[in-house]
Amino acid sequence: MSRQWALDNPEAVREKWRRQNAKRANAGPKWTSAQIAEIRRKLKDRCYYCGISLNGEGEIDHMVSLECGGTNAAENLTLACIPCNRQKGARSAEEFLLWLRADGRRVRRFTL
Ligand SMILES: [Zn+2]
Repeated sequence: MSRQWALDNPEAVREKWRRQNAKRANAGPKWTSAQIAEIRRKLKDRCYYCGISLNGEGEIDHMVSLECGGTNAAENLTLACIPCNRQKGARSAEEFLLWLRADGRRVRRFTL
């Protein structure tokens, strides 16, 4: 969506935001810090995708993105390093892991 297109199509932009907000509202309540601590413990404080040590940081990632109908339920959440989370986009966790492998990138070796 280019800036000019957005300026020329204010109705379409509003509609896109409306749909995105509806998906977020349907995703359910936000996670708790206890849930995230549990996920971090299971991952041994590593990125779910590349396995790099997060050192207590990283970002909360929706394994199935909200755009694709994912929810905020703990089963759909994981922790990712910033580069992985940025590259993942709207792909599912499964698709992103396959893409990392196909692209010859570092993929975590541990299983959960
Ligand atoms: Zn990573």
